[in-house]
Amino acid sequence: MSQEVKSTCCYCGVGCGVLIRSEGGVIIGVRGDPDHPANRGRLCTKGASLHLTAQGHGRLLHPAWRPTREQPVQRSDWATALDLAAERFAAIIREHGPDAVAFYISGQLLTEDYYVFNKLAKGLIGTNNVDTNSRLCMSSAVAGYKQTLGADAPPCCYEDIAAAGTLLIAGANPALAHPIVFRQIEDARAANPAMRIIVVDPRRSETAAIADLHLAIRPGTDIALFNAMLHVLIAEDRIDRDYIAAHTDGFAPLAELVGECTPQWAAAICGVAAEDIVRAARWFAGSGPALSLYCQGLNQSAHGTHNNAAIIHLHLATGQIGKPGAGPFSLTGQPNAMGGREVGGLANLLSAHRDLANPAHRAEVAALWGIPSVPARPGKAAVDLFKALASGEIKAVWIACTNPAQSLPNQAAVRAGLARAEFVVLQETFADTDTAAYADLLLPATGWGEKEGTVTNSERRITRLRSAVPAPGEARHDWQIVVDFGRRLGQKLGNPTVDRLFPYKTAEAIFTEHVATTRGRDLDIGGLSYALLEQRGPQQWPFPEGATSGRQRLYANGRFPTADGRARFVAVRHQATVEQPDAARPLSLLSGRLRDQWHGMSRTGLVPRLFNLDDEPCLAMNGDDMRQRQLADGDLVRVSGARGDIVVRVVADAGLAAGRCWLPMHWGSRFMNSAGVNALVGDAVDPHSQQPELKHVAVEVAAA
Ligand code: SF4
Repeated sequence: MSQEVKSTCCYCGVGCGVLIRSEGGVIIGVRGDPDHPANRGRLCTKGASLHLTAQGHGRLLHPAWRPTREQPVQRSDWATALDLAAERFAAIIREHGPDAVAFYISGQLLTEDYYVFNKLAKGLIGTNNVDTNSRLCMSSAVAGYKQTLGADAPPCCYEDIAAAGTLLIAGANPALAHPIVFRQIEDARAANPAMRIIVVDPRRSETAAIADLHLAIRPGTDIALFNAMLHVLIAEDRIDRDYIAAHTDGFAPLAELVGECTPQWAAAICGVAAEDIVRAARWFAGSGPALSLYCQGLNQSAHGTHNNAAIIHLHLATGQIGKPGAGPFSLTGQPNAMGGREVGGLANLLSAHRDLANPAHRAEVAALWGIPSVPARPGKAAVDLFKALASGEIKAVWIACTNPAQSLPNQAAVRAGLARAEFVVLQETFADTDTAAYADLLLPATGWGEKEGTVTNSERRITRLRSAVPAPGEARHDWQIVVDFGRRLGQKLGNPTVDRLFPYKTAEAIFTEHVATTRGRDLDIGGLSYALLEQRGPQQWPFPEGATSGRQRLYANGRFPTADGRARFVAVRHQATVEQPDAARPLSLLSGRLRDQWHGMSRTGLVPRLFNLDDEPCLAMNGDDMRQRQLADGDLVRVSGARGDIVVRVVADAGLAAGRCWLPMHWGSRFMNSAGVNALVGDAVDPHSQQPELKHVAVEVAAA
């Protein structure tokens, strides 16, 4: 007899609800949940193929370890494996201090998993060295929201797409990366043919193909464009002076700065026509509510925080925020990057959007956890964390549900860090990711369809996931592994309070504690419980105690979560990309997603039908650039950057201007005889968000 349970898709931040069908402990099907507000029954090709990834291929099924990296892994058992991990971590902490260990986790973990990892590092061990692959994804959006609006909180909801008069889509390709959001855009356009769609993307993407106006700017020139749009809005008196006066600070210095940012000035920098910049500004202010949708094209930049601030300025200056169809809406890359931030799972954050740098916030968290203090020293963000492994400053790292040997920039340096580390633990669903080659200890974790817990999607909506089938082999839930390890480590460190720190027997107990930490905060979910989510379905935050529903939109009353309740304009200036094309490497290489693959393909790479569209990574290139190099479609080419080269096939792409090329991000050495695009990319980071500039690198291309 088959049965269905409710869960979510484990891929992107749209957070589509799914119904998982199982029979006899085996997942046999998946369909969209017609009751889930994010997707109303729809799924994209990746989501609709999820059941095909749940057949046990490539799974890590029991703990394993190796005495040296040169030796093959040997099967172990949980008690031996966790005792070994606790012994090695305790020895390193005793000899070198708590900051000699680190945790690198994932936006694909559930909120409950994230919560206990954060408590383990900051509450038990006393280090803030806990960072996540969300650092590569949304940290510039976080910093941009906090600088301008005062809190890490996307103010919009998916229903705003249908209510918008103008959509400004920048640095995002929802047609492939957030397909169910793209379906909503198509529906909105069909219902309202007058809707204006502006797409800002250096490449004519699948999303740009439906745009009324495609601004194919030079890579990294977003701030110049948005500042010039603000210049036009001010010059043509299309701003909302009453809103600015009542609800914001800092407009005058920014207005003075953008006074020089004429459309002609920006046109020369961005490589688009000045009249198109004027048109975009007029549509933004004059075609009904304006909604901005943006993602990694803004975030993955050495000035990503200011990219985000510059687009948010357009909304604050026109009062286009907190209203149906209006606002700045960052599209989350991973399924639970939001939930991870909510519990403070980054090196600079604490539970419930508290700031590590704030002594009062540290004291609040210490009181909530019943410990004397939370360490004040900032932890290492992702790129610095792996540099510290390479230098020997950090000696042991625990990696969960992510594959840094493929996904971080400057891979040679990351792999050198992993190789130098004294002890590497990998907690994973799959057995043979690129990172597994560096692991001393492998711990099998449950995956999609097997876990219980919660996730938060791009519109702040929390969904409860239920397990459809039992854990395979000896795999355990991520939170269970952390709690068991924490208790053993606490005993070895002689911590008498460890059982009080980790009392949990269920994921629900962790969620209940997380709920308590949010009371009185901007994301207050004091009114939520597993029972309420069960009865009433997914809910948006905030949802304080006594509320009857979550809040669809934030800042409708014009009050922002800053000390004085006012939003801030920030004087942001155009900055060039870190690597500029030159005579040796004259091409700008961009990267992005394909429709049918997800991240490093550890899951989607298992499904043959997802390869039908693209079975290998191809470099897309401008036709004239190819002719200059005597290249034809299908030729093998060597793509050379400052840090190395890779060999792939090349295809002409009429959607790329001369001097630009594009490569999908998914492939690593596991799926081809070459490293992926991140081997070429540098590790320069944004000074505010610490997010690396993954989206741009200078290269040369030649026949291989
Ligand atoms: Fe999954 Fe995203 Fe596709 Fe929805 S849009 S089914 S969340 S990959």
